[in-house]
Amino acid sequence: MKFSTAAVHAGQRPDPSTGAVMTPVFLTSTYVQEGLGKNKGYEYSRVSNPTRTALEGNIAALESAKHGMAFASGMAAIDALFRLLNPGDHVIVSNDVYGGTYRIAKMVLERYGLEFDFVDTTVLDAIVRARRPHTRMVFVETPTNPMMSVTDLRAVAKAAKQYGWVSVVDNTFATPYLQRPLDLGIDVVVHSVTKYLNGHSDMLGGFVATNDDAVTDRLRFLQKAVGGIMSPFDAWLCLRGTKTLAVRMRQHCENAMEVASWLSRQRKVRSVNYPGLPSHPQHALAKRQMKGFGGMISFDLGSLSNTKAFLGAVRLCALAESLGGVETLISHPATMTHASVPKAERVRNGVTDGLVRISVGIEDAGDIIADLAQALRKVR
Ligand SMILES: *Cc1c(COP(=O)(O)O)cnc(C)c1O
Repeated sequence: MKFSTAAVHAGQRPDPSTGAVMTPVFLTSTYVQEGLGKNKGYEYSRVSNPTRTALEGNIAALESAKHGMAFASGMAAIDALFRLLNPGDHVIVSNDVYGGTYRIAKMVLERYGLEFDFVDTTVLDAIVRARRPHTRMVFVETPTNPMMSVTDLRAVAKAAKQYGWVSVVDNTFATPYLQRPLDLGIDVVVHSVTKYLNGHSDMLGGFVATNDDAVTDRLRFLQKAVGGIMSPFDAWLCLRGTKTLAVRMRQHCENAMEVASWLSRQRKVRSVNYPGLPSHPQHALAKRQMKGFGGMISFDLGSLSNTKAFLGAVRLCALAESLGGVETLISHPATMTHASVPKAERVRNGVTDGLVRISVGIEDAGDIIADLAQALRKVR
């Protein structure tokens, strides 16, 4: 099955009891047992639920993975992944990860004895140099949030195999439509499905996809033991979202390319970070590794006062956290998504007070650009 077909059909079949074409929302906590130890594969909804099972089959197919597990949020999925480790274990993480990933590592899991090093994973040497005898995992985000840096996933997978680490990629920004890490040798893919996979900004969810049976057994056990699972209703919403993933991503890519090109021609814009621009430092790698360049752009307006004037003037673009919805969202990483990263560290990674991030929606590109243009006129 090709991607667009799998997006619509994988994991789902008409309901056998009624013929309903769409997977029902199975709002049930428990399932009647025919006798002791005899059931239809479902016992209690923390362990599994048919609507969740359908979504798990669907997204696993899109990532060309054998197994998929849906969680209550991207952070619940990331938390479960880090719980594969033991106190004293060391993890190498991209230095420009989602702020919440930094927060759970530094402010939650370090207290339980895990150790984290944040390095520039776009440089393979930096990853190898950060290794310690007890390194167990490498966790990469590409493209990163919000600097849009691109890491070579084949190279990371190779290093991980050589040193015996579990390799993990947060594929939220690219989605499986644009990038399939497992095909490049990566062990585990994690998602915030809250973003592009659902695509309509109306639920929260996380996902792990992998071909590794042992990782799957442990994560399924953690779902049962800890309980950070996705609700049936959210799974149903997400299923209707993934059906249109291919068409949405094509439009996000097309619109973002137009917006990024326009931004790069504006005198008041100091720099534009978009992997689709030839000026991007990893443009060639992105072209090789991804099917398209995605819908996320960041750009620098030079100062906090410029950014305030600009963000106060946008009308069509909604000033909001999050990304990946059909509507254009615009945000200020330094005070919003990345507020929990210490300022010195933030600025070192390029997340200055003047940096603006835009999640380009699927509206008319001309309308988006017109809104950005009128807001830019408010910048001195
Ligand atoms: C939003 C996001 C997360 C966290 O996901 P939630 O669903 O908000 O918990 C993790 N990684 C990336 C790249 C994200 O954008």
